[in-house]
Amino acid sequence: MRFCRECGSKLIYDRESREYVCRVCGLTYTIQELVVYSEKDLEERFKKDEKKKLREEYLQWWLSKKG
Ligand SMILES: [Zn+2]
Repeated sequence: MRFCRECGSKLIYDRESREYVCRVCGLTYTIQELVVYSEKDLEERFKKDEKKKLREEYLQWWLSKKG
């Protein structure tokens, strides 16, 4: 199941145009676009996790210095 990037609604596959259509906001996505988007999502999620990790490590270091 694919979901709209804008509003999170389920996308419906339109066989005629070979695109996924969001019935709520009207956006259309090609299959290729959806694949690229999901890859970007994974990348961003990974980057966020890395940043969070760094921040936590810094906090630990800062706390240990202070303590
Ligand atoms: Zn939508």
